[in-house]
Formats: sequence, C-alpha cells, structure tokens
Amino acid sequence: MIDLYTLTQPQLDDLFASWDEPRFRARQVWEWLYDKRAASFDEMTNLPRELRQRLKAETTLGSLEIAAEQSSTDGTVKRLYRLPDGQMIESVLMPYDDDRRTACISTQAGCAMGCVFCATGQMGFARHLTPDEIFEQAMRFARDLEAEGERLSNVVLMGMGEPFHNYDATIAAVRRLMEDLGIGARHITVSTVGLVPMIRRFADEGLQVKLAISLHAATDVERSALLPVNRRYPLNELMEACRYYVEKTGRRVTFEWTAIQGQNDTPEQAHALGKLLKGLLCHVNIIPLNPTGGYAYGPSGAERVNRFVAILGEYRIPATVRVRRGIDINAGCGQLKAEVLRRQRRLKEAEPGG
Ligand code: SAH
Ligand code: SF4
Repeated sequence: MIDLYTLTQPQLDDLFASWDEPRFRARQVWEWLYDKRAASFDEMTNLPRELRQRLKAETTLGSLEIAAEQSSTDGTVKRLYRLPDGQMIESVLMPYDDDRRTACISTQAGCAMGCVFCATGQMGFARHLTPDEIFEQAMRFARDLEAEGERLSNVVLMGMGEPFHNYDATIAAVRRLMEDLGIGARHITVSTVGLVPMIRRFADEGLQVKLAISLHAATDVERSALLPVNRRYPLNELMEACRYYVEKTGRRVTFEWTAIQGQNDTPEQAHALGKLLKGLLCHVNIIPLNPTGGYAYGPSGAERVNRFVAILGEYRIPATVRVRRGIDINAGCGQLKAEVLRRQRRLKEAEPGG
C-alpha cells in the first residue's frame, strides 16, 4: 500500500502517470488531500469510480492508527497513535477561545533526554520519527477540523521527544507544514531542551518559526538536577546560543518554565532567572507541573507563581502563566501513553495464569 501523504506532488504525478491516468487527475487528488483535506476516497466525488476503487485498493491516507483517544471538558483532544512497527506516540489538539486550533505533535517515540519530571523522559528513547510521521500527526487533526468547518491554525512541536535530537526530520516536517498544510512559519513553534549546536543551526536556517527553550531552572546545579542535558550544555553556553539566535533572526526566544512547588518557584530562582535573561529579547511561559507517576513533586500554587512573576517584573522580563490544558485527560507530554501502558499491564496481570 502506498501512503499518499508521503508523496511529493511530482511523485504523485509519477504514480498517476504509471497508472496511465492523466496528470489533471493527480492534481485533483492533491487538492483533495491538502486543500479540501478529505478523510476518505469516497469524498473525492469528481474522480471516476474506477479510479477511486483503485486508490482504495492500492493506497492509504496516512499510516498512523489511533490506539486511544480522550477528550477533555476544555475541548482538548489527546490521541495515542500506533505506528506500523508498534511504537506509540501522542498528539494533542488544543482549541483556544479565539479561532486558534493548535496541534501539539511528537518528534520521537520516547526521549533520550531523561528530564526527571517528564513522563516521556521516564520511558526512555525508542526511536526517531520520520518526517512523514511527524507531519501526519498535524495532517490528521487538520483533516478532522476541516470536517467540522474549522481550520488547523498552529502547530507546536512539544509532544513526545526532543525535536533537535531528530533535527533533519523535524525541519523537513516543519517545511511540509508550511508548504502542504499552509501553516504560517510564525504559527509553528519548535521546543527544545537546549541542544546548543542545534539552536545555532536553527538560527542559521532562515525560518521564521518560533523557538522555545525549556529552561526550568536558572542555576546550573538546579537545572542539571531536573534536566541532565544541562551537564553537557550548561547555562552559559545555552544563553550564548540564545543570544546568537536573537541576533541572527531578530526574533524573541520563549523560555518554558514548568513550575514545581518548592523546587524552582523560589524567590532565589526568580532573581537568578531575572539576572540570566536581563536584556535579552524574550518571554517566559510559566506552566504549573503536570504530576507524573515517576516524580514526587507537585505544581506550584498560584501565590508562589504570582510572586515569581512579580520578581521577573522587577527585571522587566515579560512572563505569562499558562493554564494546564487537558489536565483531566493526562494531556502532559507522554502521560497518555504511560496510562495506557499501565492499563495494559494491569489487564495482563489480571489474566488467568498471567
Ligand atoms: N523535548 C522538548 C519538547 C517536548 S516537551 C522540550 O523538552 O522542550 C514540551 C514541554 O513540556 C517542555 O517544556 C517540557 O519541559 C514540558 N514538560 C514535560 N513534562 C512536563 C510535566 N510533567 N508538566 C509540565 N510540563 C512538562
Ligand atoms: Fe525529552 Fe522534552 Fe521530556 Fe525532556 S521534557 S525528557 S527533552 S520530551
């Protein structure tokens, strides 16, 4: 079976030529795929029946199989996909009050970075995703939204995995999001744990895509305890790469700060962060921790977060406190997969003789 989503437009033309179909048919199908975002061949009503039959018999629209799905009361949809080799990855769709529809997609099955509070980090690394596997996650939400008369507007590469550990596939997927799905570069965000050489490479890429850095602590001892990668790329090197990015692109950097009660929400950390970022074109996003099974701490309370933001204000550093979306459906990175695996284990244990 040929997955049509993996073909470039010239490749689709070639396939149709090999079927002795005129080129305009290939163009019609391309339109059904990416402009009309059809979810089935039956929708492609301007194609002859025989052609639709052949497409059904020999091709597919994607290769990700939905293994589990949960919808939250706030409208967030969380999906677990099974890949052809059995690996599982997560994607999340987040509708906001305005017209934004944001897909949060994965770049790896698992993650090698081992951040202590992250459900994906706790699982370890399985494999890199291909550009097609990264792209299809956004494509599938785009297609579902289209059926409801809505349009996917934003994509964040903040699901499972470290995008810059799978750099080339990530950039290839980002280019397809722009070219095939028509998502503006400024509506795409790549989030990294801080792989310094790749931040520099990304700065040189000439893309208008947004960059987010998962900072979470402003001193090396604290950051290394949360994010082991900090031992390899300490804060001074990370900040130098961020300054290079800002100089090179003229774009601001977003710093992500997962607020953990009693850990990184102290006035000391706030002052250290203020000093670290002072004068840099940036923004801080504070997101209370989503508790995970493998990490004992909880989210910071509102009072501590507010004090933290107030201290950053003293350094003129803009900060926004984000709400945790889909908290009732394990919508933190890697959490649905962890939940499904736990359930499978329980089922297995419950089996007679198991
Ligand atoms: N690997 C990349 C992108 C995926 S993680 C990165 O680390 O940036 C996306 C964001 O979710 C990161 O900022 C990460 O630190 C954060 N995150 C991971 N686990 C979390 C949790 N349990 N609660 C809140 N945020 C979490
Ligand atoms: Fe990997 Fe990001 Fe999770 Fe760290 S926070 S383990 S880099 S997915």
